[in-house]
Amino acid sequence: MSIPGPVVNLFDLNRSELEDFFESAVAKSYRAQQIMKWIYHRQETSFAAMTDISKAHRAWLLDETSLTLPEVVTRQISRDGTIKWVVRVANGNCVEMVLIPDRGRNTLCVSSQVGCTLDCSFCATGKQGFNGNLSTADIIGQVWLVERELRKKNENVSNVVLMGMGEPLLNLKAVLAATDLMTDDLAFGLSKRRVTISTSGVVPGIYELAEHTDVSLAISLHAPNDALRNVLVPINKKYPIAELMEACGHYLAGLGEHRTLTIEYTLMRGVNDSLAHAKELAKLLEVLRCKINLIPFNPFPASGYERPRVAEIRAFQTYLINAGYTTMLRTTRGSDIDAACGQLVGRVEDRTRRQKRYLARVKAQEVA
Ligand code: SAH
Ligand code: SF4
Repeated sequence: MSIPGPVVNLFDLNRSELEDFFESAVAKSYRAQQIMKWIYHRQETSFAAMTDISKAHRAWLLDETSLTLPEVVTRQISRDGTIKWVVRVANGNCVEMVLIPDRGRNTLCVSSQVGCTLDCSFCATGKQGFNGNLSTADIIGQVWLVERELRKKNENVSNVVLMGMGEPLLNLKAVLAATDLMTDDLAFGLSKRRVTISTSGVVPGIYELAEHTDVSLAISLHAPNDALRNVLVPINKKYPIAELMEACGHYLAGLGEHRTLTIEYTLMRGVNDSLAHAKELAKLLEVLRCKINLIPFNPFPASGYERPRVAEIRAFQTYLINAGYTTMLRTTRGSDIDAACGQLVGRVEDRTRRQKRYLARVKAQEVA
């Protein structure tokens, strides 16, 4: 009696992995293209409906493979039209994804990990602790589910940003296969400019990324010097700003001269929002072809930070614009449903003790 092997979730494989899988299983790599058209173009997840595949082969697919997507647990709509979903992923935990409709664009913000191992001092996701990486199917499945919803009203996901929960470059293998599918014509066919990976500065990950892809890259900088960045983004102690800048230059070299990096800078009142910081930032970024996104801090309980006043935010932006940088102010979207940057928490069964410590702090603040 033969022991059945594990069922392969076809959403876990990019095109070349699907080709290898079909080649070794049934000596027919072209099946990959056929299957991709069904599952991504036609969004069909029932093998029985795939009528251009022989009955015998469909029976084999049913036995040996699956088409498993994350499960939607809740869906909330913000007053401004932003939609947030909580989805249960393969390891049983829940993560969040957010759709931001804006002037004909539908930007989807997807998660890459359950929580985050890094503990940036101003980020709610970091306070939840960590409980594992998402699989490729979990990541591409988020895009698939939202695309299905949008198609019902003749719309599509137009941009994807990996800015939800987690640090994408600490789950690089799954993230790369997922971004391959986002940009593959046989799947979502998005231009590489419309797919953005955001990183807190995992330097080796940036080099590895450059070897495999040229999707857009955003760097969460938040501070113009190491002393401050060590406090806000602790991974800076391992990979300081100078090393990060070098890695950015390397990635940029692979993008061609018309593309830029995005520098993300969350503004926190009295912490990193002075004109002296803006000046230091302008100097630091001189060597880099980049545009700057300013994100006013989004509050969450017991964060210990505040958003600067509008006048201070504007002054910071104006300084950078005058210094020659394209500097956008990210408007806060979906804050009434906690869907704004840094507010995503999902439901993480924490494997670290960070969540406990954080919740104790929230309680202490409520009592005080
Ligand atoms: N881990 C990745 C991607 C997810 S975070 C990264 O750090 O880049 C997405 C963006 O939201 C990052 O730029 C992050 O620094 C920012 N962010 C986190 N918490 C925030 C908060 N409370 N207010 C505003 N932006 C925040
Ligand atoms: Fe993780 Fe990004 Fe939040 Fe930092 S900002 S804790 S890297 S999700």
